[in-house]
Amino acid sequence: MKVEFLGGVRTVTGSATLLEKDSLKWLVDCGMFQGGKEIEKRNDDTGSYHPRDLSFILLTHAHIDHSGLIPKLVREGFRGKVVCTKATLDLCEVMLRDSGHIQEMEAEWQNRKDRRSGGKGATPLYTVKDAEKSLRFFSPVNYNEIISLTDGLKVRFQDAGHILGSAIIELWVEEGGEGKKLVFSGDLGNSGQPIVRDPSWIKEADLLWLESTYGNRFHKSREETSQELLKIVQEAIAHQAKVIIPAFAVERTQDIVYTLGQFMREGLIPSIPVYIDSPLAISATEIFKKNSDCFDRETKEILLRGENPLDRPEIIYTRTTEESKAINEDKGPGIIISASGMCDSGRIKHHLKHHLWREKSHIVIIGYQGEGTIGRRIVDGAESIRLFGEEIAIKAHIHTLGGFSAHADQKGLLEWLSHFENPQLEVFVNHGEEKVSMELVRLIRERFNLKAEVPLWREKRILFAPEERPISEEAREEEVAPEDTFHSLLRHLDRNYKRLRRKLKRWRGMGEEAQDPQRLRQLEEVNRKIEELESEL
Ligand SMILES: [Zn+2]
Ligand SMILES: [Zn+2]
Repeated sequence: MKVEFLGGVRTVTGSATLLEKDSLKWLVDCGMFQGGKEIEKRNDDTGSYHPRDLSFILLTHAHIDHSGLIPKLVREGFRGKVVCTKATLDLCEVMLRDSGHIQEMEAEWQNRKDRRSGGKGATPLYTVKDAEKSLRFFSPVNYNEIISLTDGLKVRFQDAGHILGSAIIELWVEEGGEGKKLVFSGDLGNSGQPIVRDPSWIKEADLLWLESTYGNRFHKSREETSQELLKIVQEAIAHQAKVIIPAFAVERTQDIVYTLGQFMREGLIPSIPVYIDSPLAISATEIFKKNSDCFDRETKEILLRGENPLDRPEIIYTRTTEESKAINEDKGPGIIISASGMCDSGRIKHHLKHHLWREKSHIVIIGYQGEGTIGRRIVDGAESIRLFGEEIAIKAHIHTLGGFSAHADQKGLLEWLSHFENPQLEVFVNHGEEKVSMELVRLIRERFNLKAEVPLWREKRILFAPEERPISEEAREEEVAPEDTFHSLLRHLDRNYKRLRRKLKRWRGMGEEAQDPQRLRQLEEVNRKIEELESEL
């Protein structure tokens, strides 16, 4: 069985893993790369497979960094099944459509620019229509059920506690009489998060893909974070000021609404308007209400009392641009929750423009802020920021509340890992910035004495080969210390070189039948390329 690491390695976006056994190929996640031109080029890279050759895409959850390229694959010929939970399908319906819309807008913007400068023009990565078409290939499954996908391939989705519908994927793969169990953590949530159930503990696995978004950080407890938010809101009320919360449309928004509702239920703050200013967040909230079977016990109890924690009279959902603009007319205290979560796009930019320069306003950062984003610059203490061509001074109070994160911190990740019982478990650390993943690898090796590493983008591996044993031989040569990119690349090169030597050895052992004209041409070509490469180094 083979693997190729196609995304979410040494970066948080573009999650995708290609797996292959016998003649079957499938992906676990199919995410979009985001965070600047350089990395986004990878969205056009089709990898070493053709979408029409894929039988399945197993999807951990609806976030675009995991699902965002599915419509592109469908457009290019994917006709297999997208297997995920029902809530993930519901969320993908709005999120992929929205993503298609963004792709169309961006291409249009680029085209307008190119027409002026004589550039070559752009086509969207995919359109709203592609997104809609892709939904036909979704095949939802229940949590906790073992499903046989085909001969020698079974799957089970378990709670990941990250967002509505999110799952840890367990995969049982058989090839040539040999069987292994693979586990993909997906994005792992925190225990005790409201609305969704806590992450399930998994005990058995041979190979594990573990996310590491916050692999080097510690969140404050949920309780402490709620208290901090309460203080911020109380101060804003005392000064008749606003609290601006950039939030991802799915989960963080609903989570904050839930918490603010709790403050009001308990009489800790008076009833003040809470604006949800993001059409996507509004649609997502509707989907939350429809999928109450995914809720945790506490949330279900509130529902049973006849209350919907996401539907309070103070909550004002603003869909249209006019409604959004009208928020600025409201001069009293209030809370504005708006997307995008990293402040790079969407309506949040308008609210930041209106409030960053006001000394009494509060900006509350609750989610992960990727490298190079506006949100990251605000968190890192920038004195001013350019928004809509205007330099805006940052005078507002800036708060970072990690405890509302949808991702487990270092402690949470290691605790989740501690439930695995197999001392031979191999761990691939992904979904994190390079140095963060490295740090987590070091800890996993130290604390659990497990084999752990951070794969490279496009790195290919044989996971298990019943007849030969090349993997274990190579594995033994691996260094014990976490590596930097340079040494990792060297190791990768070394592995490729060995693979080539093995092939040559096999060919040398073959008779006349190996010497067909096509192979001779291939050998000539390979020789020429290697000479070229060697002289370049
Ligand atoms: Zn996620
Ligand atoms: Zn993610």
